[in-house]
Amino acid sequence: MVDADWLWRDGEIIRFEDATVHILAHSLHYGFAVFEGIRCYAQGDGAAGVFRLEDHIARLLESAHMCQIEVPFSHQQVVQACILVIRKNGFLDGCYLRPIIYLGTGSMGIAAFDNQVHVAVAGWRWGAYLGDDGVANGIRVRTSSFRRSRGDTTFAKGKISGQYVTGILAKREALSDGFDEAIMLDTEGFAVEGSGENLFIVKNQVVRTPFVGEAILGGFTRETAIDLLQDDGVTVEYGRFTRDEIYCADEVFFTGTAAEVTPVREVDRRKIGAGIPGPITERLKKRYAAFVRGQDEKAADLITRVEL
Ligand code: PMP
Repeated sequence: MVDADWLWRDGEIIRFEDATVHILAHSLHYGFAVFEGIRCYAQGDGAAGVFRLEDHIARLLESAHMCQIEVPFSHQQVVQACILVIRKNGFLDGCYLRPIIYLGTGSMGIAAFDNQVHVAVAGWRWGAYLGDDGVANGIRVRTSSFRRSRGDTTFAKGKISGQYVTGILAKREALSDGFDEAIMLDTEGFAVEGSGENLFIVKNQVVRTPFVGEAILGGFTRETAIDLLQDDGVTVEYGRFTRDEIYCADEVFFTGTAAEVTPVREVDRRKIGAGIPGPITERLKKRYAAFVRGQDEKAADLITRVEL
């Protein structure tokens, strides 16, 4: 159960139990909504820090733009709504924020240009998405039987609710089969990402991750991870990879706002490297954890500080 007392919706702070939607809300039926996932971390001095808040809200509004959803609030208003949700709930020790833009009641036809557009921001405390043990020791993943759709079928760069059905199916398949997460292949059979994470492999000290123009969400964690790796002098190359390249990689890891940096120790029952998180992943994991908590001067511009 989500632990939060207050949410923000359409310009007002409302109680958790009042944050309901109508059964005939358009988005509920057709998955036509856009959302974000943002993390906020205790900064060690009593303040909270929202990591890349401006970027996340920009991506939220870009997702809406792709869908031709006219948003009745400005970028700055949604940013302020996120800050308000943190303050009102007292989340200075960190939280996960979930802004969502959705269509309410009105037309039940699918186009629904005139339905009211709602904007809401929820927040709750959320630990390691792939589990503390997974972050510490690495997770076990399987290649999904579901494919990541091509960039000309859906908008890979948008966080659009309906598009998550494929990810949900992949994640459920992985969990039902006793794995922790799924690797999604694109329609040509190349590995591109996880169900909600970007994917990296390491071979002979060189890191590879799919090019941002592939069918992936260009994750902000991916971008920060690349900056931190390059800052450490690690070479990063871009491109999709095949399953055999994953199996024979020295290290594999996922990045994502929820997943942060999570090592992968096994793929399709094949051990990756020594079957424990490798040195490049381990260093990145620690650097990322320090970075988002403001323990790196280069992080200052990417963190929005919130005090009570
Ligand atoms: N790919 C998908 C499909 C995702 O849902 C996410 C999570 N937003 C990511 C990648 C990682 O993106 P980010 O690092 O911006 O959270």
